[in-house]
Amino acid sequence: MDSIDEILSELPLPPYVTAEDVSFAVKAVTVHAAEQWPEGRRCRNDRAPHPCHLHHRGRRVLDQRGLTNRHICALIDEQKAQQP
Ligand SMILES: [Zn+2]
Repeated sequence: MDSIDEILSELPLPPYVTAEDVSFAVKAVTVHAAEQWPEGRRCRNDRAPHPCHLHHRGRRVLDQRGLTNRHICALIDEQKAQQP
């Protein structure tokens, strides 16, 4: 029995990951960050158990692009710095 989140997170990724996809994925991972709740970690944005499907999908895009955790953290910091 698959949950809807599992189905959504298994959606096929675009064959070519563009810079725009990467930027969108970084945004998704940043917005859908984990938050500590009494019962465990949940998405800060939609309250789904962390990682929610958008966070998971964002990470898959970044993985497909061949980015390491360090690169991803650097991109997230960069995007945070650009926000007003
Ligand atoms: Zn989320």
